[in-house]
Amino acid sequence: MAKIRQLDPHVADLIAAGEVVERPGSVVKELIENSIDAGADALTVEIKNGGMSYIRVSDNGCGMSPEDAKTAFLRHATSKLRDERGLEAIGTLGFRGEALAAIAAVSRVELLTREPGAAEGVSLTLEAGEITEELPAGCPEGTTIVVRELFFNTPARLKYMKKDSAEGAAVSAAVIRCALSHPEVSIRYIKDGTEEAHTPGDGSMEACIYSIFGQAFSKGLLEAKSEDEEISVSGLVTAPAVSRGNRGWQFFFVNGRCVKSKLLQAALEQAYKNSLFTGKFPGCVLYIKMKLSAVDVNVHPAKTEVRFLNERAVFDAVYYAVLSALEKEKGPHELPLPPEKVMRAQNVKKAEPKKDFFKTMPASQLQQKAAKPQESLPLSRGKQMFRYETSAPAAPAKAPERRSEEPAAKERETREEPVQQRLAGVEKAEDFRIIGEALDTYILVEKGEAIIIIDKHAAHERMIFDRLRAGEDLSASQFLLTPLVCELGAEAAQALLAEKEQLEALGFEISEFGAGAVALRRLPSDINRDDAEEILAEAAESLMAGGKVQNAHDELLHSVACRAAIKAGKRSSPEELKYIAAEVISGRVKYCPHGRPVSMELGKTALDKGFKRI
Ligand code: ADP
Ligand code: MG
Repeated sequence: MAKIRQLDPHVADLIAAGEVVERPGSVVKELIENSIDAGADALTVEIKNGGMSYIRVSDNGCGMSPEDAKTAFLRHATSKLRDERGLEAIGTLGFRGEALAAIAAVSRVELLTREPGAAEGVSLTLEAGEITEELPAGCPEGTTIVVRELFFNTPARLKYMKKDSAEGAAVSAAVIRCALSHPEVSIRYIKDGTEEAHTPGDGSMEACIYSIFGQAFSKGLLEAKSEDEEISVSGLVTAPAVSRGNRGWQFFFVNGRCVKSKLLQAALEQAYKNSLFTGKFPGCVLYIKMKLSAVDVNVHPAKTEVRFLNERAVFDAVYYAVLSALEKEKGPHELPLPPEKVMRAQNVKKAEPKKDFFKTMPASQLQQKAAKPQESLPLSRGKQMFRYETSAPAAPAKAPERRSEEPAAKERETREEPVQQRLAGVEKAEDFRIIGEALDTYILVEKGEAIIIIDKHAAHERMIFDRLRAGEDLSASQFLLTPLVCELGAEAAQALLAEKEQLEALGFEISEFGAGAVALRRLPSDINRDDAEEILAEAAESLMAGGKVQNAHDELLHSVACRAAIKAGKRSSPEELKYIAAEVISGRVKYCPHGRPVSMELGKTALDKGFKRI
C-alpha cells in the first residue's frame, strides 16, 4: 500500500482551512515541518530575494517513492492522517495534507527525492501545480524541494508582498522559530549566498540559542526562569541595552510549540517598562510549560495562537521570570571589548554554556520583592538636589508661596544636615572611591579592581524618574505669580485640559486660556519656568499620538526627570557625584528611563592587557 492517500472529503472538511501559503515565510515553515516530520535530523534552507525568486529546503529524511512523490502534490494528500480519530492524536507538525499542493499551485517547483536504500530517486518538475516533467534521478537520500517565482501566476497576491528585505526577515523568523523548537535537528540557513545560522542539532537548547542569537546579541542575553506547580518559564531575554526596533525577536514556546500571543508579549514588555526607549522592543526565547489542559491550541488553523485557561497566572509567571532576569543584571554595564575579544568570548560561550544557565530567583520570592514598597530614597531636586526630606512626608500639595522663583539660600542650608547623614551611611555601605569628574559629564569611580564610568545625567534622571513613578509627590510646587501662557494650538491644549487632573497630580496646574492656549499657574519645583512650555508640548504630543493616558503620563515623567536631573556639561559638587555614584554602584540604577546604560566598567585586567602588562 502506498504511504500517501487522499483524505476522505469529510475528514478534509473537519480540518480548518487555513491559508497555508501567505508569503515566502509560510512556505519555508511548511517545508521545514515536512522535513522534520520525515525524520530528518539535518536540513538546509536556502533563499534568494526574500524567498520570492528562490526557496530550497534539502533534508536527509525518509524521502518518497516516485509514486508517493506525485501523490504528495494532490490536495489533501497526506501520509499523516487516516481517519477522524487520527485528528485527535495528531503529533506531527503539518497534517492538513495541503501544503505541497498549495505551494505548487502558485509557483514553479522542482522535487528531488530518494528513499533510503532505493536504487534511484525521482525528479519532478511542476508548474502552477501541474507536473510537467518526471525523470529518474541519481540524488542523495532524502528530499530537496526548490520553489521558484512564488505567486508568478497570481498577480493579485504578488501585489501584497512586501519588499524582499521584509519577506526575507519573515523567512528568517520562521527558520529561527523552527530551529528553536527543534534543537535536535541541525538547521543550516543560507540567505542570498550567506550562511546566517547553523544550529548544531545536538539537542541542547542552550547551544541552539547561542548558535542563533550568539552573533546578534552576544553578551546581551539574560537568563529568565520562574517555576511553580502550574507553570514553568525558562529561557533568555535581551538586556535593555540590546533592544530591537521591532518585535521580530520575540519567541514564545508553549509546551514546545512556537506561538504568537498578545498576552505573553504584554507580560514580557511590561517587565521592561521604563528600561526601554519608546519604540524599542525586547527580544526573548521563552519556553513556557503547563498542563496540556491549561491551554487551547485550536484557536487558529496553523496552531500559532493559543488561549490560556488562567491568563492571569500565565501573565504573572512570564512577567516575574523576566523581571527577575532584569533584576539580576545588577551593577555597572561592562565596557565593550575590542572586536577580536568579542569573537573569542563568543566562541568560549558557544563551546561551554554557562553553568548556571536558567538558574535564577523563583517567582514567589520575586513577587514578594516586587510587592514591597520601594525603598524610600531621597528625592533629588535638580539644582537643589540635596534638599531632602528625610522622614517628614512630602509637604501638602498646596503650600502656597512655599517657594518663590529664586530659592532661598537659607532653605538650602537647613537641609544640609540630612545630606551629611545620608552620605555617612553611603560611605559605610559602599566601598568605592570617587576619582573625579571627567568632561563635566562622567563620574569616574574606582571600585575593587575596576574603574567605573558613570553618566551622571542619565543616572540622576533615572533616580528621579523612579521616585516619580513610585508616587513621589512633586508637591513642592512653585506657584507662578504671573501665570505662564503656553500657546500650544487648539488640539494640544484640548488634549492637556482633558488630563488636567493627572497633570495636577504631577505638580502642573493648568487652566484654559482662550483658543489654543493654556495658562500654567503652578509647576513642580524642579522644573525651570523656561522648560515648562516645552514639557507641556511634549506631553500633549504624546497624548495626541498614543491617546493613552498612561503613556503620556510616563512621557511627562520622563520629561520632568530629564529636566530636573543635573546636566551633563555642568560641573557638579563632590556631594552630588558621590550621591549618584553610590546609587549606581548599589545596583539600584542601571538604565536611564530611555534604556541607555548609566555606567560602564573598565576592569584592571582589560587595562593591563591594553598596556601589555599581561
Ligand atoms: P502534510 O504535511 O500535511 O501531510 P503536505 O502537503 O505538506 O501535507 O505533504 C504531503 C505529504 O508529502 C506528506 O504527508 C509526506 O508524506 C510527503 N512529504 C512532504 N515533504 C516531505 C519530505 N521532505 N520528505 C518526505 N516526505 C515528504
Ligand atoms: Mg506538511
